[in-house]
Amino acid sequence: MSVMEYICVFSGSSAGAREAYVQAAGALGREIVARGFGLVYGGASVGLMGVVADAVLDAGGCAIGVIPQALFSREVAHAGLSELRVVNSMHERKAQMADLASAFVALPGGMGTLEETFEVLTWAQLGIHRKPCGLLNVAGYYDPLVAFLEHALAERFIRAEHRALLLVERSAATLLDTFRAYHADAGEALLDRHQT
Ligand code: AMP
Repeated sequence: MSVMEYICVFSGSSAGAREAYVQAAGALGREIVARGFGLVYGGASVGLMGVVADAVLDAGGCAIGVIPQALFSREVAHAGLSELRVVNSMHERKAQMADLASAFVALPGGMGTLEETFEVLTWAQLGIHRKPCGLLNVAGYYDPLVAFLEHALAERFIRAEHRALLLVERSAATLLDTFRAYHADAGEALLDRHQT
């Protein structure tokens, strides 16, 4: 019996200013299902979060949402998910999403998306997990962030092997292909998140 693998998607609770963002969220959802994966995400029906979940469900896939009770009405919890887990805090949300997922993808989004993405990246940097983390750089949305990371590398605040933990691609298909080829540096000892 095979156990389903889940891709965790972080994305905006807004749809953004360009149709390309909505298109990319739909394409990512369909690509996840086409490859036999499930989706785990923040459980909202709004913005790109809703678009990716709807695309997964419309394609016949499995979408699990994890939402804190306090955001249940503000982010309009998605009513049609395969499973909706209502948790007590943001921390619990992130921990459950991270534990369930085999890999992480950030679509365009705002501060919430950035916070979640950098948390899983710093966990990878510390050796808490070895799961691939990717940025879906739709229409160049993340170009300034990628440029900033190169700046931080040049200024020696980020090490080359840690910069390499963030995979950046423009299409969902290419990003998921790079995940398949990804082998995290086995040099760092794995830590338990509760040790930190
Ligand atoms: P945004 O990218 O700001 O539109 O937010 C996208 C998602 O990130 C929303 O579901 C937010 O509730 C969520 N979010 C914002 N801050 C945090 C946080 N500190 N921990 C977990 N999720 C967060």
